[in-house]
Order: sequence, then structure tokens, then C-alpha cells
Amino acid sequence: MPSSKGYAALDTKSPLVPYNFSRREPGPTEIVVEILYCGVWHSDLHMARNEWGNAIYPMVPGHEIVGSVAAVGKSVTKFKPGDIAAVGVIIDSCRHCEPCNRGEEHFCAEGSTLTYAAKDRVDGSVTMGGYSNNYVVDERFAHTVPSNLNLAAVAPLLCAGITTYSPLRHWNAGTGKKVGIVGLGGLGHMALKFAHSFGAHTVQLTTSLKKKEDAIKLGADEVVLSTDEAAMKRHAGTFDFILDTASAPHALEPYLSLLKQDGTITLVGLPEKPPSINMFALITKRTSIAGSMIGGMPETQEMLDYCGRNNIVAEVEVIPIQKINEAFERMLQQDVKYRFVIDMTSLK
Ligand code: NAP
Ligand code: ZN
Repeated sequence: MPSSKGYAALDTKSPLVPYNFSRREPGPTEIVVEILYCGVWHSDLHMARNEWGNAIYPMVPGHEIVGSVAAVGKSVTKFKPGDIAAVGVIIDSCRHCEPCNRGEEHFCAEGSTLTYAAKDRVDGSVTMGGYSNNYVVDERFAHTVPSNLNLAAVAPLLCAGITTYSPLRHWNAGTGKKVGIVGLGGLGHMALKFAHSFGAHTVQLTTSLKKKEDAIKLGADEVVLSTDEAAMKRHAGTFDFILDTASAPHALEPYLSLLKQDGTITLVGLPEKPPSINMFALITKRTSIAGSMIGGMPETQEMLDYCGRNNIVAEVEVIPIQKINEAFERMLQQDVKYRFVIDMTSLK
């Protein structure tokens, strides 16, 4: 059994602490990944503190994983030892339902298996995430990584990257379209990079104008302070598509008023309270409110390959694992540009 060490939350309140555990032997189609980098997601903190009510302790968080393949099962075809592999938010699904057959494993009819704090389909154990030195995963749920990219900055692509790439592709946010991104955080900064790269006229909608310079550097053609009513009015009825990444509860009407007739706002943020909607904001322009969640395995690989061809990675601050509790606190203060990534070689 691969012996593993990592950092775990042992209860809702205490800081993460070093933790030893073991993973199962890899099956014929599975690989063992020696983790090099793991991104820190805002919700690792929500999960560790059981704010969504689904925590299982001990919990080793982390689902933006990049590492080197240490061993492969006898039927593995995609990887050989020494290759770089990446693992994201889900590590299994039923593999036979309609969405799974379409490569949309994240919409699995039986529910996909999360990378941590979920019941493993193979042996019933609790999945332990990437704040650790290794991972055992089926090759279907692992991705190859273009060799030109900085590996630390690739890690956030596995969650923040695919969560923004997928809806921007699905709603055709490209050339000739005016696209708004709500919130400049971990997700928002990737959305900006993608929308700009797809050729859309990209507008950053932000509550903090001090991020203006950054937004422009990251690809925004314009930056609008969403609390400035006059500025918002100047853009009323002009957007084809808006991707809303805001993590805090907020009213949707100001953003709905920006949409053209038949425009769509897609929500990927998960504020703890659902928004209430003034129906007139919808019916008077036949606008749509939609949602989107990560992406399937083929699209995640497509996104990584696209990033390789276009040299797109996340903006990251690399930290040793010993600073994870400090990083959680800084994340709460929005003091990160724009994603923490743990250098897992710091795990002694
Ligand atoms: P983050 O780095 O904290 O960024 C969130 C951004 O939201 C902030 O930087 C801020 O940007 C903006 N914001 C905060 N309060 C706001 C308000 N009241 N009104 C408008 N904007 C506000 O978080 P993240 O990592 O990007 O994650 C964003 C959300 O996506 C979280 O809720 C997360 O749980 C969720 N998520 C969903 C999926 C999925 O599959 N759907 C995947 C990953 C994450 P400004 O300062 O620019 O306003
Ligand atoms: Zn399925």
C-alpha cells in the first residue's frame, strides 16, 4: 500500500496538522502520482470547517493536483513512470451512464466521486486529497500536461481553469461577443484570461477598483466598478454573456440589466445564500440565468492542451505546506493574487 503523508483537518475548528495514512494499491488501470504541487481552493477552507455540512474527518483537502507518475498499473496506456499528470475535482464516476459515456463525468447520473472527503468507489474508504505526497487514481481521471507550462501555475487550472473555460466555451464567448466577468479572484482571473484569448470583448465587473490595473494586465478590455450605478448604466443592454464568479451573496439585477435581449448570465460562484430574482429583470428581455460546474474529463484535457498552445497559466503564490493555515487566513482577507499553490516537496 502506498504510504502517504499530508496535512489534515481533524475537526471543524483546529488548524490543519501533519497526518499519516495509506492509499490502496493501484489497480490495472490506475497510476500513482507523486504530488509536486497542489492549489488551495477557497472551498478547501469551507470544507475543512464543515460549512457545507458534508465534512468527514480526518480530511486531507486539495483537488488541484500536479505531480510526477511514480508507478502505473499493467493496463495503463496514457502514462509511463516519470510523466507529469494532473488530477482535478473528481476522481471517479459510474462510467456507464449517459453523461459518463459522453465524457461529462461531472454530471454522472449516479454522482461523481470527489477527490477528497468522499466515499471511494473501489474500496469504500474516504478519499484523501492533494495536500499530501501522493495520489492513486484511474488514468481516465488523470490528465497529461503540456511540457511548456510552469507546473506550479498549472495546478489551479484543474479547478479554477476548467470551471471558467467550460461555460465560456459552452456559451460561445468569443470573437464578436461582449462578455462580462463578475469578480476578480481565483476563478475570475482565469475567466479573464480565457475570454480575452477566445477573442471576446472582455469587461471585468468588480467591487474593488484597486484591481483595475491587474484586470487590464490579465486581459480586460474595460473594467467597470459594479457599485457605480452611472457606470453600469452606460453598459446597460450591451452584454451577450456574463460569467458570475462572486463568492459572496449579491443581487443579480444589476448584472441582468447589462444583458442584451436573449443574453445569459451563468453563475459558477457558490454564495451560501441563494439570490432572489426580480422576475421583470428576466421576462422583459428573455434573459437566462444558468449554472455551470467544473467540466468533464475530455474537456479538462482540451483546456490543458489549449493552455499549452496559448501559454495560459494561473497567477500563483507558491507556499510551503507549513504555511497552509496562514494561507487560509489570508484567503479570507482576499490577500492572494490569485491562487495559493503548495509546493509539496516542502512536506518532510
Ligand atoms: P475568490 O478568489 O475569493 O474570488 C471571489 C471574488 O468574488 C472576489 O475576488 C470578489 O471580486 C468577488 N466578490 C466578492 N463579494 C462580492 C459581491 N458581494 N458582489 C460581487 N462580487 C463579489 O473565490 P474563487 O476561488 O474565485 O471562487 C469563487 C466562487 O466559485 C466560490 O464561491 C467557489 O466556491 C465557487 N466555485 C465553483 C465551482 C463550480 O464548479 N461551479 C468551482 C470552483 C469554485 P472583486 O473584488 O473583483 O469584486
Ligand atoms: Zn455516470
